[in-house]
Amino acid sequence: MKRIALFPGSFDPLTMGHLDTIERGAKLFDELIIGVFVNTNKNSFFTHDEKLVTVKESVAHIENVKVIAQEEKLTVDVANQLGAKFLLRGVRNVKDYEYEKDIATMNAHLDKNIETVILMASPKYNHVSSSILKEIWKFNGDIQDYLPTAVYTALEKKRDLFEK
Ligand code: ADP
Repeated sequence: MKRIALFPGSFDPLTMGHLDTIERGAKLFDELIIGVFVNTNKNSFFTHDEKLVTVKESVAHIENVKVIAQEEKLTVDVANQLGAKFLLRGVRNVKDYEYEKDIATMNAHLDKNIETVILMASPKYNHVSSSILKEIWKFNGDIQDYLPTAVYTALEKKRDLFEK
């Protein structure tokens, strides 16, 4: 049976930290599906389409990874629809651990057949978060090293629009 994992997240935007987890996670499963949250939250920085396009472009080099718009449903229900028996997530620090532990435990309560696999963030990226990068970007700080090229290019296009 194919081992399929779902990596759900907001990815607003996708960072090199996320991409590192995706590249490492892809080696563990036959197929890894990135579920980009369809977030109606107006505070989302990238539009849903921008997220989908940039995430797809950023993972195009990884053969067994695909990207979907994740409907607003229970993650375990989405996983079951996709035939995914694993959920992939990442932890950078103790704060993430507490959060991820609660979500993993709750998902196990909702469906005991779905296993959460959590990868430790690489030391290279464990200080990187979408929210910190957005804050630095607003004030013109250099964040290029922490973003996949497609994401960085899309962000800079936004700056051009803002400044016009
Ligand atoms: P969510 O809103 O679901 O937490 P995020 O896009 O913030 O979505 O994060 C998705 C997953 O990626 C989470 O498990 C988070 O802990 C993990 N993650 C975020 N940043 C990094 C990073 N720099 N390195 C590794 N994993 C990360």
